[in-house]
Amino acid sequence: MAQTVVMKFGGTSVGSSERIGGVAKRVAKHRKETGDRVVVVVSAMSGETDRLIELARKVGGDRYPVREYNQLVTSGEHASVALTAIALEREGVPARSLLANQVQIRTRGAYGQNLISGVETETLEELLERGITPVVAGFQGIDEFGDFTTLGRGGSDTTAVAIAAALGPCRCDILTDIDGVYTALPSICKRARKLQTLTYEEMLEMASSGAKVLQARSVSLAYKFKVPLVVCSSFSEIEGTLIVEEYQGMADAVVSGITCRADEAKLTLRNVPDKPGIAAKVFKVLGDAEVVVDMIVQSQGTAGRAAISFTVPQESAQTAYEALLKLATEEMPDASVELDKDIAKLSVVGEGMRTHAGVASKMFEVLGANGINVEMITTSEIKISVAIEAKYSELAVRVLHECFIEQQDAGR
Ligand code: ADP
Ligand code: ASP
Ligand code: MG
Repeated sequence: MAQTVVMKFGGTSVGSSERIGGVAKRVAKHRKETGDRVVVVVSAMSGETDRLIELARKVGGDRYPVREYNQLVTSGEHASVALTAIALEREGVPARSLLANQVQIRTRGAYGQNLISGVETETLEELLERGITPVVAGFQGIDEFGDFTTLGRGGSDTTAVAIAAALGPCRCDILTDIDGVYTALPSICKRARKLQTLTYEEMLEMASSGAKVLQARSVSLAYKFKVPLVVCSSFSEIEGTLIVEEYQGMADAVVSGITCRADEAKLTLRNVPDKPGIAAKVFKVLGDAEVVVDMIVQSQGTAGRAAISFTVPQESAQTAYEALLKLATEEMPDASVELDKDIAKLSVVGEGMRTHAGVASKMFEVLGANGINVEMITTSEIKISVAIEAKYSELAVRVLHECFIEQQDAGR
């Protein structure tokens, strides 16, 4: 039955004129075969957003006006939507390119990381009614003044899901340079295999701990509005990965995926007074400096002194270090601050963890047997994450994949 589908194409998929032609052919074929009403969302051509950000840095140094940054980096998508619409027209598909202000994709929140607060469907519906395919610029929104904002790196995924949610009921296909979501990043783990299905929660945990195949926010939005998500290849038509609320046998596999992000840093504040209110003071200072803290460990105090360690994204490590140094100098004269920038966060994710015990002990045992020290630990109902030395990231993913995925598959 014909339905409404959002098809999102990432940077590599629109990375050259030939590829844009390929996207247009794919959309034309899909429309012809299914009769679906299609909304296309595209990213900037691969490398373009990086190039524009670099230009802003070269011209503006460390500080440049946020408004102009947004105006500049959104231009990557400005070009790709127009080119995609031209290519669609060439395929005989009536198409209209649209920027965020033309659709009315409203956003709120912080610089470079805006959140979508609403999508107007009137223009999209009107075009679809007339048989015209809207081609919407990903990654951008508008603020209350009508100025462009940006949704953070990888944000076109979120644009696509937000449009699908607003048009609902509507499926969202994320067409990319890989044919689905894998048990681990295939370029570092040759034995990684494609997953047929994942729950929103599994995908959310994977995306927020390193599987950049989807922007984490797009998954939370899809979860909230129950938008069925499909991750598949833009270059071939083989079946991709379906992400839904639940699927049959979802608790059978203990671990569904293993992820790693090597862009973390660890800060340790030693010799702080072991008394109520100190942790609050430390994290207030970090909050005021807009540093997002991830894993936290506080050591058992001895002789009235304790140590607090935590991880932050590498990009905010220096800000966090300076904020702590200031706090220590002004209020904790005996304390010292250490910064370790070579930290990776390694995670195992799976719905099966809700019902299977012993995953943590097995994980620590395998890491220990391979000489990898666990520096911090955090857990959720379906995820265990550890901080390790960054140089062990790839080895750690491979040994955990062997232990949790390959042995599990062999036993089926
Ligand atoms: P696009 O430009 O289409 O948005 P991205 O580069 O953002 O594409 O996302 C696709 C990439 O995500 C893949 O090429 C792969 O390198 C990476 N990736 C990371 N983890 C995974 C995973 N578990 N499964 C599949 N791809 C992954
Ligand atoms: N072009 C933006 C980026 O490179 C958005 C996206 O690709 O999803 O981050
Ligand atoms: Mg992406």
